[in-house]
Amino acid sequence: MQPIGVFGGTFDPVHYGHLRTAFELWQLLHLAEVRFVPTGNPPHRDQPLASAELRLRMVRAAVAGQPAFSVDDREIRRSGVSYSVDTLAELRGEYPRRSLCLLLGMDAFLGLPHWHRWRELLELGHIVVAHRPGWKVPTMGPLGEVMVDHGTGSIRELHERSAGRIYVHAVTQLEISSTELRQLIVSGLDPRYLVPDEVRRILLDSECYSKDT
Ligand code: ATP
Repeated sequence: MQPIGVFGGTFDPVHYGHLRTAFELWQLLHLAEVRFVPTGNPPHRDQPLASAELRLRMVRAAVAGQPAFSVDDREIRRSGVSYSVDTLAELRGEYPRRSLCLLLGMDAFLGLPHWHRWRELLELGHIVVAHRPGWKVPTMGPLGEVMVDHGTGSIRELHERSAGRIYVHAVTQLEISSTELRQLIVSGLDPRYLVPDEVRRILLDSECYSKDT
């Protein structure tokens, strides 16, 4: 059975950097699907500006029409802080033997040692890291050590084992970030071509990043 990709994020808002990364990893790794999991209440950062419902609506609009992509709203339905380890543990309960691949950008991977019970993530699934512009694979510190113990260059291993490997892959570099998008919209500029048209429409209609919100 092909692995399931799990792509968590604040998605405040979702943009083509997220979508292209998920699409390339789905194709390259022969994943069965990629599940987008918008965070409810993120532990490591400021609260999102757009409401959970609106972020969820934008992610749903962004993935519509791509059958390999789906949206999992469990973190938004769950009360309290969203921890990836809880999400992965739930998925592991639902898919006891299936390979699960947690998809992360390199910036997110470098922050991993600050995540709640982060080492358990590798007991529950694989970690697939997408290179982002300007970031290097760590060779020292706790991440350097887990790279030595868990790093693999084999896609086959991601299929044959259900958890425990870290695979790093370059993806087309689209230097888009939600932070810059929000700033651009606050300055009255148009996000066209940085987000899907349906997401742009929701952004413009909801005015969720306008100056007074
Ligand atoms: P912000 O600017 O608000 O921090 P972001 O654009 O980094 O947001 P997140 O929702 O925080 O988006 O990211 C979700 C996941 O997508 C993370 O694993 C992150 O590393 C990855 N990601 C974000 N932007 C890109 C991009 N342009 N290319 C590849 N991966 C990305």
